[in-house]
Amino acid sequence: MIIQPKVKGFICTTAHPKGCRENVKRQITYVKKQPAIKGAKNVLVIGCSTGYGLASRISLAFAAKAKTLGIMFEKAPTERRCATAGYYNTLAFEEMAKEDGLYAKTINGDAFSDEIKAQTIDIIKKDLGTVDMIVYSIAAPRRTKDGVTYSSCIKAIGDEFKNKNLDLVHNTITDASIPYANEEEVANTIKVMGGEDWKEWIEALDKAGVLAPDTTTVAYSYIGPEVTHAIYKNGTIGMAKNHLVATSKEITSDFQNVNAFVSVNKALVTQASSAIPVVPLYISLLYKVMKDKGIHEGCIEQMYRLFHDKMFGTAGAVTDDSGLIRVDDWELREDVQTAVMENWDKVTTKNLKDVADIDGYWDDFYKMFGFHFDNVNYDEDIPLV
Ligand code: NAD
Repeated sequence: MIIQPKVKGFICTTAHPKGCRENVKRQITYVKKQPAIKGAKNVLVIGCSTGYGLASRISLAFAAKAKTLGIMFEKAPTERRCATAGYYNTLAFEEMAKEDGLYAKTINGDAFSDEIKAQTIDIIKKDLGTVDMIVYSIAAPRRTKDGVTYSSCIKAIGDEFKNKNLDLVHNTITDASIPYANEEEVANTIKVMGGEDWKEWIEALDKAGVLAPDTTTVAYSYIGPEVTHAIYKNGTIGMAKNHLVATSKEITSDFQNVNAFVSVNKALVTQASSAIPVVPLYISLLYKVMKDKGIHEGCIEQMYRLFHDKMFGTAGAVTDDSGLIRVDDWELREDVQTAVMENWDKVTTKNLKDVADIDGYWDDFYKMFGFHFDNVNYDEDIPLV
């Protein structure tokens, strides 16, 4: 099949195996050129196939020479449909890890389930003995727990929220009107995206005796500037992230051998962030300013810097006054935010290309699904299975 991008709003329903491979290869190439990370040896990455989880896995495998076991929820190809990007990314990652003599195994299934936790423990016992690092990088729309399915939503809390928005279908600036959530929606979003499942993983691993005497775990959050607060920090997803932060403290105090952290990362184009209203416009304005200043980072630069400088550096974990690790530090620099907000106020459909890096936004978007790589032949007929 000749695989072309099929974009529907904020998602692309096709993915290109060779392009995804190129995407992974470029991230590996970047990491291999960086100084080694002196840290984790046996790593479990929950949500390992795209975005921040994939970049975490690549950084720890190729810079720390860690053995990695990954958990993902991706679709394999069929005779008529290509696989999801995360599936192809993982095939490529495993192939390249093995070429370098690095252990890499992946379980494809629902990380929220007891069954996948049990399978993971079996593999750790058989292949690794223990894990000393757990990355929790799930972004999921729903979670089934004890037979009940909870859905997360991205809504404001309190008042309906109106702000500028990038219409991803027409590349125009529109007004987004985001309804506010009721109490049940807030609770459900916390159930899916909060820390409950993270802690259940640590409990299950601890009970099975597969945690190393000195284990580190990290999950990811976002805070962002004022303009995104109503939809993110103070909205349903922000409440889930507050729960995640509270859970990190609980894990650290409940388990003697575990130190749990939350790292606040930069806003970047990923499958999860494309779905959030207002955020794609903010990201394209941010990209423009950070690229102009020469401080733009993608997922791989962020995750390498996280592990090399802020978690496993000579100073150990570097946190702010609230105990959070901050790799959103460059994004939130005053000069960056002043420039972004000036452009936020003046951005219109007409000047979008001048004040925002809209091409950069879309380039990252297509690359996430394996498209737009200049060294991949997209006319090639590719067997799907
Ligand atoms: P993503 O969509 O790229 O990755 C999500 C990962 O979760 C994938 O590997 C997917 O396979 C996996 N997954 C989803 N449901 C699963 C399930 N039920 N079982 C097993 N695996 C499952 O998302 P991302 O943007 O990399 O987000 C990862 C984390 O980083 C999230 O907590 C997100 O809130 C946080 N974060 C993202 C940004 C951003 O701008 N993208 C910024 C800061 C923090």
